Amino acid sequence: MNVTLAASGSGQPALGDCFRCPRRGVQTIRVGEISTPGGPGHTAAETPLFACRSCEQDLIVIHQRAHEPPGRRYVPAHPTDPAPSGAAAEEHQRRDTPCGTH
Ligand SMILES: [Zn+2]
Repeated sequence: MNVTLAASGSGQPALGDCFRCPRRGVQTIRVGEISTPGGPGHTAAETPLFACRSCEQDLIVIHQRAHEPPGRRYVPAHPTDPAPSGAAAEEHQRRDTPCGTH
């Protein structure tokens, strides 16, 4: 399966559903398509992807940021060490309860 997105929307704007956000019945523009190649037992298919104006801009920003020089990135994409979560989540206060038989 291939997902092709064209950063600058192509085609005519049309009212429809945004594929990315819950907006329905808004002015959308075709930003790409999902395509599957044909093969034994199934035929090639293509599903157009329509995004609203807001999401189209978001996609362009994602695209631009993905290709910024690494030196400009302020936050590293992958933190090296995971932060310990819940320091005192489980206290080990194990007391030997006397069972009554001395
Ligand atoms: Zn949207």
